[in-house]
Amino acid sequence: MSLNEYKGVWVFVEQRNGTIQKVSLELICKAREIADKIGGKVTAVILGAEVEGLANELIHYGADMVKGFENKRLEKYITEPYTKILSSAIIEGKPEIMLIGATTIGRDLAPRVAARVKTGLTADCTILDIDPQTNNLLMTRPAFGGNIMATIICPEHRPQMSSVRPGVMVLHNKDISRTGEVSIIEAEIDEMDVNVEIVEEVVEKKGKIKIEDADVLISGGRGIGAKDGFEALGRLAHRLNGLTSASRAAVDAGWVDKSIQVGQTGKTVRPNLYIAAGISGAIQHVAGMEEAEFIIAINSNPDAPIFDVADLGIVGDANKIIPALLQELA
Ligand code: FAD
Repeated sequence: MSLNEYKGVWVFVEQRNGTIQKVSLELICKAREIADKIGGKVTAVILGAEVEGLANELIHYGADMVKGFENKRLEKYITEPYTKILSSAIIEGKPEIMLIGATTIGRDLAPRVAARVKTGLTADCTILDIDPQTNNLLMTRPAFGGNIMATIICPEHRPQMSSVRPGVMVLHNKDISRTGEVSIIEAEIDEMDVNVEIVEEVVEKKGKIKIEDADVLISGGRGIGAKDGFEALGRLAHRLNGLTSASRAAVDAGWVDKSIQVGQTGKTVRPNLYIAAGISGAIQHVAGMEEAEFIIAINSNPDAPIFDVADLGIVGDANKIIPALLQELA
């Protein structure tokens, strides 16, 4: 394998029911940054029943080229046809870097594709950068149960493949003046490869916004003291058009659901406002929220590490300050 033959940064674009998933746009923005550093083009690869109409959006976010594969059979994700098409496209197109969102679909697809194209995969990355000396991709992810951050390289094989958690990379504003090349191919699918039949699709309750998408998060920790304490946090979140989130201690105590845990083993969030109430600021928690635009910490201990990352700190009892804030906003 001559590594020099491999050029450009590719992003697998995940669509569900014809809607591009946000993580794919985040990855296109990151791919743009990487391609500008190493030289080369950003190519967005998208599979679906009809994808041509989505191409411009991908270009506006930073892709130079869109490779679309259309077939009625590709409307919904099925492991084998998706794996086969993406692997063949990589073998033919020889990208230097291949990025995939670490969603349930991406986690199924990425390792299979990596194995078929005989390269490595760094799964679940939280930081991507380029080594200025070698131009190798530096892929960083939590390792050993989140106790260390490991930076992994793939110097001898191509593409350098990485799956990336949703919400980690910054989504830049789109530029509708950008133009690019679009190539749409009618994909051939062997019926033998359609080895899964989707019998029923159960969609998560409508209207439920994920904490990763919220502009305002009111987050509670062990210092809230009890499940009941989260009611006031919920009311404040509602008042500010936001959502409630939590530290792992609050989740482990059974006060709230794991789906709203922020941190290294929870979700990575980037809201405009993050209020951390009764949260000490352990490194594993901070890893998931430090990129928030504005952080307010409420903690009874003036030496709590959360104050080191806070833009505004309030020393006091969160169970008194939150109701007082609610009263102020009434
Ligand atoms: P504590 O550390 O117990 O802090 C409670 C805080 O509340 C204290 O600072 C205290 O001063 C303050 N307080 C007490 N009473 C009040 C009051 N009335 N008003 C105001 N403040 C008050 N943690 C996560 O959050 N997310 C993760 O994803 C995560 N992943 C982890 C992965 C690994 C591998 C490991 C080892 C740990 C992980 N943790 C994670 C756990 C993390 O190390 C901390 O234990 C956890 O974040 C602590 O939660 P906390 O801040 O709510 O509780």
